[in-house]
Amino acid sequence: MEEMLSTLYLLQRVDNNLDDVEETKGGLPEMVRSLESDIAELTAKINKKQEYIDNQVASRNKADEDIATFTEKLKKYKEQQYQVRNNKEYDAISKEIEFSEESIKNLTNLFEDFENMMSSAKSEIEELKTQLGDQQSFLDEKKSDLSEISKETEEEEKKYNKERKKLIAKISEDLLSRYDKIRSARGKAVVAVRKESCSGCGNRIPPQHIIELRRNDHMYICQHCGRIVVSDELAKKIIEAEK
Ligand SMILES: [Zn+2]
Repeated sequence: MEEMLSTLYLLQRVDNNLDDVEETKGGLPEMVRSLESDIAELTAKINKKQEYIDNQVASRNKADEDIATFTEKLKKYKEQQYQVRNNKEYDAISKEIEFSEESIKNLTNLFEDFENMMSSAKSEIEELKTQLGDQQSFLDEKKSDLSEISKETEEEEKKYNKERKKLIAKISEDLLSRYDKIRSARGKAVVAVRKESCSGCGNRIPPQHIIELRRNDHMYICQHCGRIVVSDELAKKIIEAEK
């Protein structure tokens, strides 16, 4: 048991070091992630607008073709109007002319609507592209900052990750998942006793429990914060051994 407690405490120390490395990167990794997701969102928006424009182009072109067809018909009807032989024929042609003129008018309005919608969508795209460009250059900047820092911390990180790998190989899956759970909730999963208290939350540990803890023969969980607590002696021994 003592060895398991030592392994857990060591793992916590390695993770503390990894946290410190992360901290030297500041908010950069988070910022890069968030910028990347903003950029993906903007790109999707632009694509959607472009798709909309492409669809409008087809509708606009159809309206344009229909206008041409009706204009052609109208021309023909107007010629025919001069050749009618009776009132009945004249009325029929007049009706066709009226219908064609009405259709051309409606289609022209429709054509203009499409043009207007497309041009406003185009200017929206322009605006989005400007935003995208700004975000992209901001991202490039942050990425290069991050890679600069990462270069400095890479060796350290590699070393700690290697240590971590070795340690977790000695811990059962159940225990490791418990460790991870406490760690993600509390920051630190394993702490030592300090001045008869849990150094994680500062709450006092009953004297009877301190005595039991020193035996290093079972896992003690702080009743207040749920962290795994090891004796101060064990912690000291591990820290000494590290030096
Ligand atoms: Zn505690």
